[in-house]
Amino acid sequence: MASFVPILPVPLQDISLHYPSVQQLAVLRIDKLDAVVSGNKWFKLRYYLSEARKHGFKKIVTWGGAWSNHIVATAAICAAEGFESVGLIRGEEPTQWSNTLQQAAGYGMKFVFLPRSDFDEGFRPDEYRTAEWFPIPVGGYGPLGAAGAKSILEQTDVSFDHIVCAVGTGTMMAGLINGCSQQQQLTGISALKGHLELEENIQNLLTQPHTNWAISRAFHFGGYARYRTELIDYMNEFYKKTKIPTDFVYTGKLFFGLETLLKQGYFAPESRILAIHSGGLQGNRSLEAGRLAY
Ligand SMILES: *Cc1c(COP(=O)(O)O)cnc(C)c1O
Repeated sequence: MASFVPILPVPLQDISLHYPSVQQLAVLRIDKLDAVVSGNKWFKLRYYLSEARKHGFKKIVTWGGAWSNHIVATAAICAAEGFESVGLIRGEEPTQWSNTLQQAAGYGMKFVFLPRSDFDEGFRPDEYRTAEWFPIPVGGYGPLGAAGAKSILEQTDVSFDHIVCAVGTGTMMAGLINGCSQQQQLTGISALKGHLELEENIQNLLTQPHTNWAISRAFHFGGYARYRTELIDYMNEFYKKTKIPTDFVYTGKLFFGLETLLKQGYFAPESRILAIHSGGLQGNRSLEAGRLAY
């Protein structure tokens, strides 16, 4: 069977934001692994898909919002690997499909639009409950998703004191925690407001007890996919300094948060810090043209 081939290894890029007390600040550019399936989505999906293949499934069903990076990534990988794909999309069908939906449809994904209440309960129409459909949970949340995310760490052999990442469902962060040593400290920047079950959701994916991690909720800019001019300005500024494009849903908030924490002296002197650029750049298409300098 054909398979999706990511460009690996991904680059590790040192950046300087001029915090003299930091020994190393590096960005793991997993956004670079593919032009469409950018970033952590491939890592989170890889073991679901190998499981589906192993058991002879031909059809994948998954869930996501109209702007979901997970939906595009699933559609693109399924197309490359010869799976049929269906996306159960949160909310009424919009009069005009988002870029994300258009792109996913271009990869052959079919959609069913679910009322929000059904979506939030993980509802699956009868048609897609039969034994031929392999379900992948929202955002790839689950042990297989976390196991895939753990393998992100194979992309670097440098040992960092701190790892900082953006957090949605927490699947990626759980995988990173599982792959780290107890001497390393993980900090997740939540892109969502509230989301009080997040810590528990992460905890549930840990393969052994870990206490070396924390979530910051100080940088969500009003909640999922919300932003303010200050964030967009920061993303443009960050691009100017580093040539690294970020997205406004996750990684813009990640680097804004990281830089604020650097200013606040959150990291001990001489720390070596790794930030995970988890991708998501396709989401920027929902911004008005011209807002971003890249
Ligand atoms: C989906 C996504 C995340 C969140 O990953 P979780 O495993 O759901 O926490 C972070 N960054 C980007 C760019 C994403 O697309």
